[in-house]
Amino acid sequence: MIEVNSFVAGNWIPPDATARPIESAITGIQIARAGNATLDYQAMLDHGRNLGGPALRAMTFHDRARMIKALALHLGQHKQALYDLSYDTGATMADHKIDIDGGIGTMFVFASKARREMPDGHIYIDGNLEQLSRDGTFMGQHICTSLRGVAVHINAFNFPVWGMLEKLAPTLLAGVPAIVKPATSTGYVTEACVRILLQSGLLPEGALQLISGGTGDLLNRLTSQDVVSFTGSAQTAGKLRSAPHILQNSIRFTAEQDSLNASVLGPDATPDTPEFALFIKEITTELTTKTGQKCTAIRRIIAPQALVLAVRDALCASLAAIEIGDPRDKTTQMGPLVSMAQKRDVLAKAAIINQQAECVFGDADFSLKSRKNGAFMQPLLFVCANPDKADLVHKTEAFGPVATLMGYRDIPHAIELANKADGSLVASIITRDPAVAREFALNAGAFHGRLYFNNRDSMAQSTGHGAPLPHMVHGGPGRAGGGEELGGIRAVLHYMQRTAVQGSPDILSAISETWVKGAAEITPAAHPFTRDFDTLKIGETIHTAPRKITLQDIEHFARFTGDNFYAHMDEAAAKANPFFPGRVAHGYLLLSFAAGLFVEPNPGPVLANTGLENLQFLKPVEPDDSISVQLTLRKKTRRNDDYGEARWHVLLRNQHGDPVAEYELLTMVSYSTPLG
Ligand code: NAP
Repeated sequence: MIEVNSFVAGNWIPPDATARPIESAITGIQIARAGNATLDYQAMLDHGRNLGGPALRAMTFHDRARMIKALALHLGQHKQALYDLSYDTGATMADHKIDIDGGIGTMFVFASKARREMPDGHIYIDGNLEQLSRDGTFMGQHICTSLRGVAVHINAFNFPVWGMLEKLAPTLLAGVPAIVKPATSTGYVTEACVRILLQSGLLPEGALQLISGGTGDLLNRLTSQDVVSFTGSAQTAGKLRSAPHILQNSIRFTAEQDSLNASVLGPDATPDTPEFALFIKEITTELTTKTGQKCTAIRRIIAPQALVLAVRDALCASLAAIEIGDPRDKTTQMGPLVSMAQKRDVLAKAAIINQQAECVFGDADFSLKSRKNGAFMQPLLFVCANPDKADLVHKTEAFGPVATLMGYRDIPHAIELANKADGSLVASIITRDPAVAREFALNAGAFHGRLYFNNRDSMAQSTGHGAPLPHMVHGGPGRAGGGEELGGIRAVLHYMQRTAVQGSPDILSAISETWVKGAAEITPAAHPFTRDFDTLKIGETIHTAPRKITLQDIEHFARFTGDNFYAHMDEAAAKANPFFPGRVAHGYLLLSFAAGLFVEPNPGPVLANTGLENLQFLKPVEPDDSISVQLTLRKKTRRNDDYGEARWHVLLRNQHGDPVAEYELLTMVSYSTPLG
């Protein structure tokens, strides 16, 4: 018997007499108990707010990213223990790969994206500077800073590991501690995962706590600095998010809830095409992976009217080949539902769908002879003859291996049917016709959080209709909850406050740790390219001597590079062009001469020039004009143990002081001593 503990303010608390029994999905026999009515929720909040939050906020985004990567590596070394436990939830090895390996993979992606896309500091810069005054002395910038509270993660039963990790990674990156409350029926797997994370010693105290069982009055103790991230049914979400305390205190509440996702077969995808086989394969996968207990699973199959019978027959054949059994058996492709209670619920919902659709595959009375008390069921496939008048089909979520096939007349009708579920997490369209894809994107986009197009060109590398990816937004409007998760760095910002800051360039530079045009310049004692990364200061500026650009230079550059564009070589043609006064210097010549003006040639700490961004040619440079360069250190970011990235603002002016070109130069500069 597993005693599923909670982790409260640094202590593991076992279940008490009020604990709920948890049965094995395979045998129906009780294997665990969870729940304790006496948890000290205020102590949890205090612990998170007073210890976890400050410790996380003391770290930079990159420090947190490194911690998340280390946690993911640590979990990877201990995942067998999680696999072993997860079988009893009904999950097969293929399901473990999605839940456990998928969760670990999500952490890796967030760790890597954060190091590439977030600063090595404490404030995230959101968007560009806004010039709020004519002379540039008053400017605006949006910034994001960590919330000072905790994130309460309430998770659904179907992904006890991924469900926690996909929220935990962005929360920790934001510098916010988490209190995780998994669904009780599979929370024993989450508890084991939390133990592994805590035993790693990588997390600061108070960064992660766990509630196994009910949340008591926790939600009534939250403030506007806290966040609730909920995943589960629309019913529970509705109840929790409408609680007066949540509403009155504007407590952030993100919900990921039910979804009657659709998959549409394009009119071009006839039975003789690879797209048709792909459609059948995707639907079979979605119906059977996690025994159909996926928020993104395909519930509505929408095919051209003339192909409904062909799709029905192909699906029946494909589903008949699925091996149902003990998830520990290697040959099993679909295990049981999570519990007998879940099976009863799914069959009850299927019976509702059956009022408006005919069952063409599967027997609702199915049970596995060798495991009579296990929650095994066959996939159920329905066909709905009149989908325009089948509200029950479009609105009833049977959270198991259940889907309904229906026909459409034309693309507008297919879109209308796909949009009928009042908002979904994902809709897939299997087509090779770009016009069909565009029509869907335009007319169905507003109803779905994700549109997944697939065909023969992308199918070998595609990630699957049902897979939420850390890079892409997961969430959907309406019934799907109206929330968003994942989607790269967007996910981190859910746990931060966006603030518009206004002030002078010096003030904004100090806040953003990024030199802002117009801020004070620092004159370095020695050329910045001769100095190590750690000694460079934001705002350090050098001004070069001028260099005259002659007609011979322009002609030499044209001959040397082969760039004989008329604006450089033909006076009359150049004059006729509205942009040029006559022949002008090549923009790339200006860049090359600029480098010649500011580069320090000897070997030193600058290791490489890795790019150039935001290049703008602002004014033509004519023969006999001169250019000079202003080079200013804009931003520093540690990249690894040996070197960091220095971003330089480069401004080229002509002899009158007018800006002629501007860009950002990226260099890698070594530290005086390696960090490792
Ligand atoms: P659920 O019954 O709504 O439970 C979800 C979570 O809410 C569980 O942790 C549950 O804890 C908790 N909960 C229930 N009542 C609560 C209360 N009064 N106060 C605080 N917490 C409470 O959903 P489920 O059966 O676990 O999951 C299936 C549903 O989730 C399906 O509808 C599915 O579509 C949806 N889902 C959506 C997504 C998504 O990303 N959109 C992902 C997965 C699942 P207990 O277990 O302790 O009751």
